[in-house]
Amino acid sequence: MTQFPNLLAPLDLGFTTLKNRVLMGSMHTGLEETKDWNRVAAFYGARARGGVGLIVTGGMAPNLEGGVFPGAAGLFNDDDIANHKIVTDHVHENGGKIAMQILHAGRYAFSNQCVSASAIKSPISPFVPKELDEAGIEKQISDMVAAAVNAQKAGYDGVEVMGSEGYFLNQFLVTHTNKREDRWGGSYENRMRLPLEVVRRVREAVGANFIVIYRLSMIDLVPNGSTFDEVIELAQNIEKAGATIINTGIGWHEARIPTIATSVPRRAFSWVTKKLMGKVGIPVITSNRINTPDVAESVLADGCADMVSMARPFLADAEFVNKAAGGIANQIAPCIACNQACLDHTFSGKMSTCLVNPRACNETELVVEKTDNPKTIAVIGAGPAGLAAALTAAEKGHTVTLFDQDNRVGGQLNMAKQVPGKEEFFGLVDWYETMVKTAGITTRLNTTASVEMLADFDDIIIATGVVPRNPQIDGQDRPNVHSYIDVLRDKVKIGKRVAVIGAGGIGFDVSEFLVHGDHSLAEDLEAWKQNWGVGDPAQQRGGLAPAGPQPTPPAREVVLLQRKAEKAGKRLGKTTGWIHRAELKMKGVKMLTGVNYERIDDAGLHISFGEARENPQVIIVDDVVLCAGQISRRGLADDLIAAGHTPHVIGGADVAGELDAKRAIDQGTRVAAAL
Ligand code: NAP
Ligand code: SF4
Repeated sequence: MTQFPNLLAPLDLGFTTLKNRVLMGSMHTGLEETKDWNRVAAFYGARARGGVGLIVTGGMAPNLEGGVFPGAAGLFNDDDIANHKIVTDHVHENGGKIAMQILHAGRYAFSNQCVSASAIKSPISPFVPKELDEAGIEKQISDMVAAAVNAQKAGYDGVEVMGSEGYFLNQFLVTHTNKREDRWGGSYENRMRLPLEVVRRVREAVGANFIVIYRLSMIDLVPNGSTFDEVIELAQNIEKAGATIINTGIGWHEARIPTIATSVPRRAFSWVTKKLMGKVGIPVITSNRINTPDVAESVLADGCADMVSMARPFLADAEFVNKAAGGIANQIAPCIACNQACLDHTFSGKMSTCLVNPRACNETELVVEKTDNPKTIAVIGAGPAGLAAALTAAEKGHTVTLFDQDNRVGGQLNMAKQVPGKEEFFGLVDWYETMVKTAGITTRLNTTASVEMLADFDDIIIATGVVPRNPQIDGQDRPNVHSYIDVLRDKVKIGKRVAVIGAGGIGFDVSEFLVHGDHSLAEDLEAWKQNWGVGDPAQQRGGLAPAGPQPTPPAREVVLLQRKAEKAGKRLGKTTGWIHRAELKMKGVKMLTGVNYERIDDAGLHISFGEARENPQVIIVDDVVLCAGQISRRGLADDLIAAGHTPHVIGGADVAGELDAKRAIDQGTRVAAAL
């Protein structure tokens, strides 16, 4: 008997059956734009082989004006169809099913050609869209229908019509973006006309035996969004228009409420989808912050949906479903919802991959093959870099011994997991522990490796990490001045008024830790909703609580400082930095930039501003926490080199600046893959 009976149950769609209730949700990876179709096929094929019930591709543009950016991939001609056929054939050969998402970006298109219901610029794009006339609307419909027909010719099992997240079809639905007075605007009947017409004509064009998913925004999280009565009315009409499945969209991209970041509680929005259950006769899919088979199973068992969409978890582990079905769910590499290697890459114009799994989207580039020349390999340091190297080396067939001074694996991940909103790191460390055991790696914990101990290994990988940088501030040796390690790992007692020196990733993390106290919003859905102002879409349009965000008072008064004159947190993740900044602002954290640290004494922390050391002031504090970056810990590497060895130095021990787990894991994997 499986642990996941609901998740693994087939879903009969009448003309076809999905083998389970798992949808791999659409992600823009940038793969299609490489035009390396074998690489695209390898990516989707691996997920099909991994057991997913139905894959949805990244959004494909129906025409030039609808592309998310100029040059966005689409299915425009016979060459495109032939290329996509390489992908669909490979998915089918691997026992999967795949639908193509049709994504018209409307005013979110990063192009001066963009079009929409009305000429209203979005807050996240510099371009004012052109208001479409009747002929223009007809062109958009026929282009979307043509995309569906081309998808069918290319061998796809269906299409997903993207109607949520504030994209083109969503822009017609609500008065926030639709100010028209013709038959496409005004009443809700008129505003619904475009999505209904698209679905009706797509169904007419593709025939009965083709999956048509409609992604419907169930909680817009923007002013003047839809009411839930309107959501139900739309869903019922979408069903009548011929959709096979309704998928859930949560929040427009311009919403100022996080919807998928790691600090969002797991399954935070499944209650929204549940409101639609029983209102339509076709299957309903829920999504957002569902990242383990347990969570997915609970969502289905609670009657929130008929099927679950997960996207990023399939970057972290292509074998998610097979491992769940095979009773080894604890071996699924967890998506920690960090966005660092997926969405942050997408928004920087880079190919997506995954922090936890650098092989994602690199299936044909970063190949780990069994070695013909097994060696003994010592890895020193069981942080992210060392763990990735050890696991990769073991997978290749080498005999690996992993050393660490600590009594557990994980390195700095063990500090990250202490930060409220970063609880996903617990799962990541647990996974590493499981995998180290499963891979047969010998661990030597509580051990300080020496040159003598390592002398007989064939290869040595140094992943000894970093030590905190000494900022050399006058008075920093006082007992009320602590390093971030004292705070996050050793849990020293910290008073009510705190200065945090250094506003990088760790300064932000420590500030979160200090203002939240013992209470993590990520583990308290109602408090999280109240904090961000998420209401019930059945009560308030768009699901925005009338009172707005209602944060609870901070556990401490925190001042966060940096020497650079730029905005604090400017270098945090592209898609998550705004969330960290907003969270701290809501907790009253004062951010001071362009400061000089003069000294710390009985009065507090003395600072001044700018090169002229102007505006001297003292910040009265009980404690000061130093988060001034790190430097490499290279002692062992240097000793080995002096003794004539040639160790591979990776992670923070190699380069400490801008170190993060993404770079560490990627480097560890690549160095070991080459051994
Ligand atoms: P960091 O991001 O490099 O920040 C170091 C901070 O210390 C900066 O604010 C820097 O600003 C300050 N600093 C540097 N030298 C200093 C000195 N001599 N005296 C006083 N202040 C000094 O490093 P980190 O915060 O330690 O984080 C390490 C890495 O982990 C980063 O790459 C970070 O992105 C990553 N990380 C990411 C997250 C995340 O949420 N994505 C969370 C934690 C860590 P000034 O020089 O302007 O003062
Ligand atoms: Fe998940 Fe982070 Fe990997 Fe993206 S990079 S898939 S959010 S673990």
